[in-house]
Amino acid sequence: MTPGDFEWLYKRRKKIAHEKKLKADKKRKWLRKIKPKQQKVKYNKIELEHLKVQKLSYRRFLQSNYWRMVKKIILKRDSNSCIICGKTENLEIHHSTYKNHKNEHLHLEDLSTLCHAHHHEWHCTIEMKGI
Ligand SMILES: [Zn+2]
Ligand SMILES: [Zn+2]
Repeated sequence: MTPGDFEWLYKRRKKIAHEKKLKADKKRKWLRKIKPKQQKVKYNKIELEHLKVQKLSYRRFLQSNYWRMVKKIILKRDSNSCIICGKTENLEIHHSTYKNHKNEHLHLEDLSTLCHAHHHEWHCTIEMKGI
């Protein structure tokens, strides 16, 4: 082998490496085109808590962060007072329907703030009427 041969071999190897790199780049570009980046789904906190309560019993549900957060929203909406008498003590959140149970944050209209007395009264009235 002459020094010229070495040079030729060296250049050829370099060329092959360069071509390989170009090919790989092309492939990568292609893949990027056909496979769009996976979209990251960002949940806000209540949605995250919402996912956690789906399998909980009603009792556990009432103790969940999700319910606590929903309650906070309802209390704020109803200015921390019973919607019937305006009392601000012993407040409870009443479900007018359970059809959206565990999806309450999407159906805030199903919930209302009542004082303990009015909450009790509400349920007694409805139960007496047999609704
Ligand atoms: Zn009341
Ligand atoms: Zn109730």
